Amino acid sequence: MFSLNEMNDQQPQKPAFAGSLMNRKGFLQAAGQVVAVGVASGVAASCQSNGQAPSYPVPTASTYKAPSGQQMATSPPFSPPAKVPTDVEAPIELEAWKSDADRKSAPTPTPLPPDGRVGYALVGLGHLTLEELLPAFGSCKKSKPVALVSGSPEKLQKVAKQYGIKPENCYSYENYDKLKDNPEVQVIYIVLPNSMHAEYTIRGAQAGKHILCEKPMANSSAECQAMIDACKKANRKLMIAYRIQYEPYNRYVREQIQKNEFGKPKFVDAYNCQSSANPKHWRHIKALAGGGALPDIGLYCLNTTRFILGEEPTEVSAYVYSDPENPLFKEVEEVCSWQMKFPSGVIANCATHYNVHDSRQYRIMTERGWYELANAYAYNGQKLMTSRADGAIVRQENVSIMPKDQFATEMDYFSECILENKEPYSTGEEGLQDQRIMEAIYQSAREGKPVKLPRIDKKDAFRGPEPQLQ
Ligand code: NAD
Repeated sequence: MFSLNEMNDQQPQKPAFAGSLMNRKGFLQAAGQVVAVGVASGVAASCQSNGQAPSYPVPTASTYKAPSGQQMATSPPFSPPAKVPTDVEAPIELEAWKSDADRKSAPTPTPLPPDGRVGYALVGLGHLTLEELLPAFGSCKKSKPVALVSGSPEKLQKVAKQYGIKPENCYSYENYDKLKDNPEVQVIYIVLPNSMHAEYTIRGAQAGKHILCEKPMANSSAECQAMIDACKKANRKLMIAYRIQYEPYNRYVREQIQKNEFGKPKFVDAYNCQSSANPKHWRHIKALAGGGALPDIGLYCLNTTRFILGEEPTEVSAYVYSDPENPLFKEVEEVCSWQMKFPSGVIANCATHYNVHDSRQYRIMTERGWYELANAYAYNGQKLMTSRADGAIVRQENVSIMPKDQFATEMDYFSECILENKEPYSTGEEGLQDQRIMEAIYQSAREGKPVKLPRIDKKDAFRGPEPQLQ
């Protein structure tokens, strides 16, 4: 018998019942539906015979009784034709109805069943974990939270209840290494103050788990190297959580720049600034944070510029400043401004500040146009404008891309690397390279002169294979 679910690309879109009138029983069989007798009685299901798409059964005499006693018209249940591939990774294709005058909808999601998803242990229940990561699992298709690590039993208990984590999967920092005995955990996601990234990555790899580590990778290139070595030795994957490298607007700009769509890139202007207020927070303690605005938020300008250009800087020149009267900046810098010179001749002008209102944007100037991304490094709200000349006209376009949850995309990509045994894109080596450049930036600011870096001619020298994101 014809089943709507068995349609595939080769079969005509016209179902068997289109083009002929069918009695109600035949129609309901074709639609594969069970209809409550009282509800559907009196319906004459009709199908149009115009030779086009199947029509929907139109309610004629069918009614149901509302609580008020009133008889209300009812529509008989019906499954419009849909393609339902058996492959879990292939989306269900529903009957189309929109014209191509409007943007196409995204494909229907293809979540893996819960027992097929990669299990994550989140280490550190602070702002990022509670405000972004745990909620983002709700949009994940390949990842699930299965364990938590925290120094606070109260937080552990509450958060575990909220997200359905078993009590036996809640760990303290003291029994963190016991994660090795938990087969439900495949990934440890390190969301701790920067100074703790190296230790918990190394111990996590030794526990036999893959590691997703927040940026900045660590507080020194020596720590970064030790993390890479530990993961290699344990034969575990290591990915640095550079969410921007998986974010659709930034990926689009990179693609355009790589294709020289408006000519070659020539100059980059990039800022990532915000304000802070609590001098006791670890972000203002050098031993924990490694630095101030630069490793925390300036890193986005550095990493995203490298990502978009696919090049590595050969020289940096920098200033840092901290208001001596401000207790927030006793240990870490308030502002850092730096330039980077790239082998192609591109100069990037970057700045980061911890004491101004939010400002997170870049402009990439090319031979024949520019790309300007507002909220470039924010969790959402990206706005892309491009400009180029077209004869006597200047064309400025707003490019609108379907937004995605950046954290869900990033976690699902790492899960895919594990499920399909692929090398991650934002590798430990990528994090180490940023650390080396940040060390050169601080050195330049200290010495008051430019600092050279080794010339690297290979494109995307520290990244893994280009991800195919859904
Ligand atoms: P946070 O201070 O809100 O949370 C850190 C958590 O670490 C604390 O809540 C605590 O549970 C735990 N912790 C353990 N030992 C600690 C110690 N000695 N001092 C302080 N906290 C300790 O910080 P956050 O904003 O969640 O940042 C955590 C990490 O995530 C940092 O490395 C940060 O750079 C990174 N981060 C990344 C993004 C991003 O967009 N990718 C955004 C924010 C933060």
